Amino acid sequence: MLSDRESRRALIATVAQAVIDHADELTALDQAIGDGDHGINMKRGAEAVLADLDSLADKTLPEGLKGIGMALVMKVGGASGPLYGTFLMSLGKALPEEGGAEDLVAAFDAALQAVMARGKSHPGQKTMLDVLAPALECLKADPRAPAALSAAAGAAAEATIPMQAERGRASFLGERSIGHMDPGARSSALIIDTVCKTLEATGEAAGT
Ligand code: ADP
Ligand code: MG
Repeated sequence: MLSDRESRRALIATVAQAVIDHADELTALDQAIGDGDHGINMKRGAEAVLADLDSLADKTLPEGLKGIGMALVMKVGGASGPLYGTFLMSLGKALPEEGGAEDLVAAFDAALQAVMARGKSHPGQKTMLDVLAPALECLKADPRAPAALSAAAGAAAEATIPMQAERGRASFLGERSIGHMDPGARSSALIIDTVCKTLEATGEAAGT
């Protein structure tokens, strides 16, 4: 999976650029139920990744994921930096170097557990976990179905709208958090969608 440097470089750059392009949308979501910095936080992380793009692409996929995760933990403030950082570091740690699609399922599972432990949270509380957990279920059903994964992640982000937040800043609003999409759920869906579309376009998703 992503064994050549150029495809890793292109994937990292495309995902980082998508985050930067959607920063205003993420900030607007966080203005509604948080403190309005989610787009800024995510953009800062994406810019840190782009600044280090060449050396990140030099690494194997697991090592590159760990490197991106560490950059996010160090450079991104707020709840989302450490949580996304934990996700990517755990994903990198759990992925074997020559891993295939099945290994990705187990690694994604381990990464999800790590975020839950770090955030003292679980799916159902209107957070990024409400996209990451259904994404795992989708991967378990078929680890080689990027279009289905994209669609599931998008639907899961939409499904956070009627939920009441029980974690993060949005939880301070109580019932008033109902009726808005969770910013972290949206950024997770955006990242998953961008990864899936990029892998689909290059034919990587159908491979091992
Ligand atoms: P902050 O909340 O510190 O301002 P961000 O605005 O960057 O940080 O990120 C907010 C997002 O982080 C939320 O929309 C939610 O998806 C996610 N989040 C916050 N706390 C948790 C938690 N304990 N577990 C999982 N996700 C969380
Ligand atoms: Mg915020």
